[in-house]
Amino acid sequence: MVNEQKDGMMRLIETLHGSGLKVTPPRLAVLEVLFDAKVPLRIKDIALRLKRRHHDSDMVTIYRTIEAFRTSHAVRRLDFEEDCAYYELLDPARDRHYMICTHCRRRLDVEGCMIGKILPAILARIPECAEITHHSVKYFGICKRCAKKEKGTAKGSQTSRSKK
Ligand SMILES: [Zn+2]
Ligand SMILES: [Zn+2]
Repeated sequence: MVNEQKDGMMRLIETLHGSGLKVTPPRLAVLEVLFDAKVPLRIKDIALRLKRRHHDSDMVTIYRTIEAFRTSHAVRRLDFEEDCAYYELLDPARDRHYMICTHCRRRLDVEGCMIGKILPAILARIPECAEITHHSVKYFGICKRCAKKEKGTAKGSQTSRSKK
């Protein structure tokens, strides 16, 4: 493990300690899977990855672990308007957001987070808020692939854009 990664894991473990959550081996295994993941994961993805690492855990246990992590702000739930939710680490150092194509449901990474920079301005607009602990942003649009396809079909019917 690279030092930087090790530091990241340590920071996470400290977050859990700080929130009074006991760091048990099964919890640590889930944390590691999320830490190593490059993309948000569903519960079943986490289960599969745990299995590959020889940590057999049932879905209910994983779900409960994730919920405990969410309560302690170590993990966030992402809703891509699919059947199941996705989860990823809530780590300010790797804050990222996504854009969802409303045509093909493809998920695109939004590089970097600009919200952090305007957070003081946002906070100033919420007089009753003492601290913003985290945020969730979702972008919707049409991906280039779909836009290209649509352009192709629009030749035949000019009204296709207004159709829902
Ligand atoms: Zn698309
Ligand atoms: Zn952000």
